[in-house]
Amino acid sequence: MFSHFPLRVLSRASLLAVFCTFAGTSALAQTASLQAVEISFALKAAGADARCGQPLGPIGAPATLASLRDARLYVQDIALINDKGQPTSVKLNASDWQNDQVALIDFEDATGSCAGGTPAVNTVVTGTVPTGNYNGLTFTVGVPVSQNHTSTELEGAPLDLAAMGWSWQAGRKFIKLEVNPEGGVTKADGSSSPTWFVHLGSTGCTGNPVTGETVSCMRPNRLPVVLAPFDVTQHQVVLDLNSLFGSSDITRDKGAAAGCMSNPADKDCVEVFERLGLSLDTGRELKQGVSPVFSASAKK
Ligand code: CA
Repeated sequence: MFSHFPLRVLSRASLLAVFCTFAGTSALAQTASLQAVEISFALKAAGADARCGQPLGPIGAPATLASLRDARLYVQDIALINDKGQPTSVKLNASDWQNDQVALIDFEDATGSCAGGTPAVNTVVTGTVPTGNYNGLTFTVGVPVSQNHTSTELEGAPLDLAAMGWSWQAGRKFIKLEVNPEGGVTKADGSSSPTWFVHLGSTGCTGNPVTGETVSCMRPNRLPVVLAPFDVTQHQVVLDLNSLFGSSDITRDKGAAAGCMSNPADKDCVEVFERLGLSLDTGRELKQGVSPVFSASAKK
């Protein structure tokens, strides 16, 4: 009987459904039919796509022209939401940009002011869900705890980038977003920096992963986002730099690192975390599923 099936083109889920049917279950209807999903992301500033080597903005307060230096982020727990409000996990395709639990979105292409980055870009998450009607999207900016506190030299893609690592203990930068404002950044001590940095990641971490200890972080700084309505065929996820820097003067730094590297003592993080929708004190979301910097818009 199996010879009637084109086995080489059946997915593992389809085979499972076949066996479940033989076992007398009703799983066939749910598992036999999968639909491919491609979730698009866009980085915007002043209503335009933010790109390396092109004028950016103006962004910030006061409004300042800038150039993009880096723009990458990790996303986990990606799910589509059905009309009953129930999330269905997207099974991620394996690729250079994603493993089974986390995907890297990369807007920089190493050109112009992004020199030092990677030439390839990736603005989509791809995977499958059971065929159905979905009208919402949820994802979390972050890397799962089980994969976060690992070596960038030992892990496979997309966790193998030294540029996205802090340390074994702290884990990855969940967001690495860097801009060079015209005229540079004047620091609190009078010195200057060409770049205003936003590095989001877990802080207050204890435990040594190198010796097998479990790492625990006081402030996880993972950012859950819910977008609804959201139709993957019509909408894209927009990360808006005017929103992210809406309360930040990117020409001045108030102390600690230039910009905000998730240090709870860095006054520049107050505005940045508020815009992200995270508590700087606890590292948890301020309002469930809401991050002002992320929105849905029509695809081009
Ligand atoms: Ca700072």
